Amino acid sequence: MKRNITVAIDGPAGAGKSTVAKKLAAALSFEYVDTGAMYRALTLKVLSLGIDPKDRIGVISTMENTSIDFRDNHIYLDNEQVDKKIRENIINQNVSFIAKISEVRAGMVKLQKQLAKTKSVIMDGRDIGSIVLPQADYKFFITASVEERARRRYKELIEKGETNISYENIREEIELRDHIDSTREISPLIISDGAYVLDTTNKTIEECVEILILQMKEKQL
Ligand code: C5P
Repeated sequence: MKRNITVAIDGPAGAGKSTVAKKLAAALSFEYVDTGAMYRALTLKVLSLGIDPKDRIGVISTMENTSIDFRDNHIYLDNEQVDKKIRENIINQNVSFIAKISEVRAGMVKLQKQLAKTKSVIMDGRDIGSIVLPQADYKFFITASVEERARRRYKELIEKGETNISYENIREEIELRDHIDSTREISPLIISDGAYVLDTTNKTIEECVEILILQMKEKQL
């Protein structure tokens, strides 16, 4: 029987993780799991209820009454498809406060581990190689310069029609998110042991996907 293969991809905001991971998943016919989307969905619910993302108790009790799941590559929050809503800048600005809460992380990690049990997956996030799938067959850390990451996010948001944003603000927000994600007590963003580091600055998406496929072939599990 063919066993399930797991691929862990970690890295900071705007590095190109999800774009590359989606293409890699399509090329390999693996399931793609965007764990950031799960934290984003909970953030959307918390904000829509008017709860302060730093109100630990409020966030935890919201999580207990929330369902988050993936169906056909879409994310559902309490059975509503929220792919677009979770990409708004208000979510970028608040998600890291919610993702710092230990009970939130425990709940999400449990769900993520379950998702990887039954099929071959490519999972991206901040703690995949270290906490969620420490035994992953392949581990990648995808990064890019902060300027490049801010440029990508700025372009993405402008194309989506967001107004009231500036490149400088986006860069500051990314730096703040990097800081919170890398210095938090529980499962901070780190380059996990054995991870192959890919810097996507000045590389096309296709080049990045090719590099990862080549790495996987070299390891040949
Ligand atoms: O990857 P993305 O930028 O969508 O993630 C949004 C936020 O969710 C991150 O900045 C981080 O705070 C949190 N996150 C996390 N652990 C993960 C995935 C995302 O803490 N595995």
